[in-house]
Amino acid sequence: MIKENLKQVEDNIVAACQRAGRDPREVTLIAVSKTKPVSMIEEAIDYGIKDFGENKVQEMCDKIEKIPNKLNWHLIGHLQRNKVKYIIDKAYLIHSVDSLRLAQQIDHEAKKKNVISNILIEVNIAGEESKFGVSKEQVEVLLEEIKKLTNIHVKGLMTIAPFVEDAEENRVYFKEMYKLFVDMRQKNADNNNIEMEVLSMGMTGDYQVAIEEGATMVRVGTGIFGARNYNI
Ligand SMILES: *Cc1c(COP(=O)(O)O)cnc(C)c1O
Repeated sequence: MIKENLKQVEDNIVAACQRAGRDPREVTLIAVSKTKPVSMIEEAIDYGIKDFGENKVQEMCDKIEKIPNKLNWHLIGHLQRNKVKYIIDKAYLIHSVDSLRLAQQIDHEAKKKNVISNILIEVNIAGEESKFGVSKEQVEVLLEEIKKLTNIHVKGLMTIAPFVEDAEENRVYFKEMYKLFVDMRQKNADNNNIEMEVLSMGMTGDYQVAIEEGATMVRVGTGIFGARNYNI
């Protein structure tokens, strides 16, 4: 079942790239395995998936411990400063940096472990009250401060678009994100700590539209592993 789903998602990614005249190799699929058991992750590994997304620190650490394979673990959920130390040398990419204080904490812990931490800035592109992330106006100022931190590399931007019935409704937000991404890339072209390469946007309901508008990473959970049950 998981393998069929993965095949379907990959086919959809290729089709979306074709529509947009893009090379499918520009798009990385992150399999969002939150709440799902190790056995399901192993099935995805078996298929060839190397990038997994988790949104809780504890759950990610538990899974890393249980799965010996060398994988890219993406932390995609809100990150509390007091938990940074647990994932600093484990996360391949932290998608959810939304304040200078969090960035400073990541830098601090990265220095202690002598690593460089790769992060994305989370943008609340639709200005939803229920969502984390900085406004698009705040991104430039935040980057100005973060680029002074020696043990952080900013790799790009991330957004969680609104929950909508029709993915087309989010196209406008994906377009705005892409514009912001290109703008920030140009403005920071000569800074070594900021390399705008990653635009993480699109989930099960809207990743195809996100790819058409320029996403380089899509985070798909339900479309691969099925619906989540939070009551178990
Ligand atoms: C859960 C989650 C996803 C995946 O959502 P699906 O709709 O199941 O694909 C993607 N991104 C983030 C940040 C998430 O928390």
